[in-house]
Amino acid sequence: MRISNGRHYIDGDFVVSASGATGVVEEKATNAEIGSYALGDEKDVRLAVAAAVAAQPAWAALLPAERAGLVREIARRIEARADEFTELLMRETGGVATKARGEVGAALSRLNISASLAAMARGDVQPSPKPGKLALLERIPLGVVGVITPWNFPLVLAMRAMAPALATGNAVVLKPAELTPIAGGQLLAEVCHEAGLPPGVFNVVTGLGPDAGEPLAAHPDVALVHFTGSNEIGVRVAGIASRTLRRTSLELGGDNAFVVLDDADVEAAATCGAWSSFDFQGQTCITSSRHIVHRDVAEAYVAALTRRARQIVVGDPMRTDVHLGPLISAVQRDRVHEKIVRPSIDAGAHLVTGGTYDGLFYQPTVLTEVTPDMPAFTEEIFGPVAPVTVVDTEEEALALVNRCQALVNAVYTGDPMRGLAFAQRVFSKNVHVNDAGPRPTDADDVDLDEFTTRRWIGIQRNALSYPDWAK
Ligand code: NAD
Repeated sequence: MRISNGRHYIDGDFVVSASGATGVVEEKATNAEIGSYALGDEKDVRLAVAAAVAAQPAWAALLPAERAGLVREIARRIEARADEFTELLMRETGGVATKARGEVGAALSRLNISASLAAMARGDVQPSPKPGKLALLERIPLGVVGVITPWNFPLVLAMRAMAPALATGNAVVLKPAELTPIAGGQLLAEVCHEAGLPPGVFNVVTGLGPDAGEPLAAHPDVALVHFTGSNEIGVRVAGIASRTLRRTSLELGGDNAFVVLDDADVEAAATCGAWSSFDFQGQTCITSSRHIVHRDVAEAYVAALTRRARQIVVGDPMRTDVHLGPLISAVQRDRVHEKIVRPSIDAGAHLVTGGTYDGLFYQPTVLTEVTPDMPAFTEEIFGPVAPVTVVDTEEEALALVNRCQALVNAVYTGDPMRGLAFAQRVFSKNVHVNDAGPRPTDADDVDLDEFTTRRWIGIQRNALSYPDWAK
């Protein structure tokens, strides 16, 4: 049994929660018990934040190269236990091996990028308005960063915040999602412990959102609350943090569009569209959850998409012939089916394939005749559902894309320059032409500036004249 099982990691120790309570961690495909996690509350959060506050100044005072070395050591320890992380990610999130391995690789990349950036000088010398004055700008850590993460990519989404935060001299308290507390929390605590991070620099408090997440978001000694999750909880977390005027960084959900223009290669578009709607059961923030297709190619595109949906094998991700695993929970399955698929069909959408489930295993689903007022169009689905809306013009497609908030939109066309012109009129921060999925660069996912603040220091060389009344 892992040393972290059922325990928080606070001030360099694996400890039971103040209440003594624990929750069960289940393998999503089988419901088998694979571990337990401490059910933390305000008392545990207070201890973790106090440890982080105490440890942070000495951590920030290390040379950047020393911090970078420890961040690289975390990467080495994860790499050494990559098979264990991969298997736990598969069991905990219900993703297949390629998803889990990709996540481990992405986590390593964020650690290594953060470590190399930490050692770079990032200050500045600026012209001063006074003669003989040196105006220096230093980048300094914020202090304690509270990180709250979701269940879909628990390892890499924790890493996206903790790696740059640690590299820049902050201490971290992580609250992982209760559905994935092992790979997204306990194992991370183990590797940070093995890597030799000083006690208190990195802490993990597991537990439910309202009990453990909320006190972390509300704690006055947390300088930045870094939250990744749903829009609904993000709004709540931002509201709590704003009461004490603390910084928040919110990475939320999106209702992403996949546009197929009239000159697109329909088979290529359907391959990309199927992948971007169905991969990991459609449970990513960058999943395409609206297919907006030109009428001239709509029939052929729907046929090609449906063929692909029907050949997908859904089952236990530990089996090598399986393409899609289970949805994360019954709550999520019911939301997909009862709040999105059913009401859209009741409102006039046509079910071409799928729309059924066995336990948490939801069949890849294609809906057509979807109109912009249906939940399949307006909501982030978080299930393997591809809703298709037909348009007559490029302008109409663009207006529909920009109607919903999205993280990353995509356009398929036979003319990449036409795609570029379309992409430049799309509102989202990330747009793909003839591709979909994650943003086109990893480096942009590690933003050191987010975890530092600016400090100006002015050094006056000459004596200056002040008003007579001050003499
Ligand atoms: P969620 O908002 O339900 O939970 C996220 C985290 O917040 C969990 O750790 C949870 O325990 C915690 N939480 C819940 N209630 C809380 C409260 N009252 N106070 C403080 N913390 C609380 O999200 P989820 O279901 O775990 O994840 C799915 C969502 O995350 C989707 O909307 C998806 O789009 C989004 N997401 C966004 C990104 C991104 O990079 N933008 C990446 C992955 C997932």
